[in-house]
Amino acid sequence: MSSAPGHTLATDRHTLTKTEPSKNRWNTLDELATAVSSCTNCALHGTRTNAVPGSGSPSGGILIIGEGPGFNEDQQGLPFVGRSGKLLDELLAEVPLSRDDVFITNVVKCRPPDNRDPLPDEVAACRPYLERQLELLDPKVIVTLGRVSMLRYYPKGKISEDHGKILEWEGRILFPLYHPAAGLRNPAIKRELQKDVLKLPEALRASTRTTNPEIDTDTNSNEQEESNRPSSQTAEAPNNNEAEANKSEPLLTNETTEKEKGDRQLGMF
Ligand code: SF4
Repeated sequence: MSSAPGHTLATDRHTLTKTEPSKNRWNTLDELATAVSSCTNCALHGTRTNAVPGSGSPSGGILIIGEGPGFNEDQQGLPFVGRSGKLLDELLAEVPLSRDDVFITNVVKCRPPDNRDPLPDEVAACRPYLERQLELLDPKVIVTLGRVSMLRYYPKGKISEDHGKILEWEGRILFPLYHPAAGLRNPAIKRELQKDVLKLPEALRASTRTTNPEIDTDTNSNEQEESNRPSSQTAEAPNNNEAEANKSEPLLTNETTEKEKGDRQLGMF
């Protein structure tokens, strides 16, 4: 899909990552989930209790992608069931949406030991599942939660700068957000999350325009003009809170602190 002239949403100074058609052709999400539950393609299978393929609506048009399962997710085999999941539910309710309106999964489907970041080889091993989920779900909007998930699609992006922006990626809308677990640790980041999520309806409208550009005619011209501006123009100027949030955003490093390990063991990731 290409955007109509004058309606380019990607504002980017960087190139977004291209995707390849997945080689593993699981025909349905259930088939894929069955494959994930018995997968041994990377070392994470050895320490998991349950794999977490993902859950939610296959037809809502919104795919939310986190980083990887945490303690509670590993125990229950479901995504975002800990404290960060509760915050995610609260954020969705602001729009208003619920779990029944979105599909939620992670970059890796098994919990990394000690809740560390997934390693590159683990992300690569798990990639066919995410690729196929994208094909089967065919979402209009991909919402990434946190740095690791955003980098999968936008390797040169920076979560502290690009959160809340409405970007275009291969004919879909890419909408990066901070990870809810970061919001639980930092009130300033939580406020950014609460502000950013309010743009989700705009992201959905933008996806409709990019897939059906002829609707950009006479109706809602002011609104369309506003939402079609480069997101660097629509994004609010950084304020002191954001500066503070960026300073302490825990997902900006590859190292997992002792506090983060503790947080993740509480199911925050
Ligand atoms: S993380 Fe992905 S690739 Fe690794 S064992 Fe789990 S399902 Fe398989």
